[in-house]
Amino acid sequence: MVEIYYDQDADLEKARNKTVSVIGYGSQGRAQALNMRDSGLKVLVGLREGGTSWSKAEADGFKVRKISDAAEEGDIVAVLIPDPAQPSVYNTEIKDHLDEGKILGFAHGFNIHFKQILPPRNVDVIMVAPKSPGQRVRETFLAGFGVPALLAVEQNHSGTAKEVALGICKALGCTRAGVLETTFKEETESDLIGEQTVLVGGLIELIKKGFETLVEAGYQPELAYFEACNEAKLIMDLVYERGLVGMLRAVSDTAKYGGLTVGSTVIDQHVKSNMKRVVRDVQTGKFAKEWISRFDSSSAALEPLMKDLEQHQIEIVGKKIRRMAGLEK
Ligand code: NAD
Ligand code: MG
Repeated sequence: MVEIYYDQDADLEKARNKTVSVIGYGSQGRAQALNMRDSGLKVLVGLREGGTSWSKAEADGFKVRKISDAAEEGDIVAVLIPDPAQPSVYNTEIKDHLDEGKILGFAHGFNIHFKQILPPRNVDVIMVAPKSPGQRVRETFLAGFGVPALLAVEQNHSGTAKEVALGICKALGCTRAGVLETTFKEETESDLIGEQTVLVGGLIELIKKGFETLVEAGYQPELAYFEACNEAKLIMDLVYERGLVGMLRAVSDTAKYGGLTVGSTVIDQHVKSNMKRVVRDVQTGKFAKEWISRFDSSSAALEPLMKDLEQHQIEIVGKKIRRMAGLEK
């Protein structure tokens, strides 16, 4: 059974007597820095000199330092820059400042699990991974609650790594919603498998192939967009709030019958075998090896793939419909 921690299991004081250096001021960096400061932690932000985040963090009232200085000053160094950028930034600007007893923190286990970052043995290595984008981490905190998070300890040199990690979870608001204990290995592998098979990879292909099928059958692309993409959000909102059965209770009996009898003939055992291949490629490190080989040119690797999808009919029709609905300018 998974261990879940709440407010009463966490002590803010374990983190309050330490300086937290948040490296990076993007989605997670900004939200986490603001939440921790509002919870009374001492936070400073470490950034590239001349980067666009610098003035933003300063405008939010943070003390901003270049990354190496922030790594030097912080007792806790939270690495919240994009995963492909982490190994080189770690090696050039962070590593040398990790004195014994410091705490190195991550929001995703990739670089530790796949050994792209090799911390010294005499520091703690922890993960606090909110299960939502930074913007929601901040919004729910401001609303007096928090988002669920995963917590893991890879190295516990101090003997108190978990207590400090829980203190950070509390400062982020996450112990209000519940913090699940895991390992770097489990978080990394399940995250990659989930985003490839379902959340990002699976959804894109399901929506795209559903759209293509309707259009190729002669239906108007605008109608196909509503059917295969737009309404997917409305259904997913119901699933999110009520579960699969709760969603089914809200749709028509025809949709229920068709969905329950035909769905599994579309997303069939072949799809599941493909998903199992994804599991193997993640577990053996095959996927990681391929992605790591592109770390130094990650934007260049992504660009043609993004361009390709941008030119797909679903994106062109989608833009038109989202403008019509006032969702996009
Ligand atoms: P991001 O892309 O929003 O971070 C961008 C920021 O990182 C920039 O503002 C800049 O401050 C810094 N940065 C970018 N490139 C850099 C470079 N080459 N050198 C130095 N600094 C650089 O990142 P994010 O999405 O917040 O992800 C940060 C970490 O959080 C990752 O480990 C990610 O896996 C994890 N995470 C993200 C989310 C999410 O929803 N975004 C959720 C959970 C965990
Ligand atoms: Mg993910």
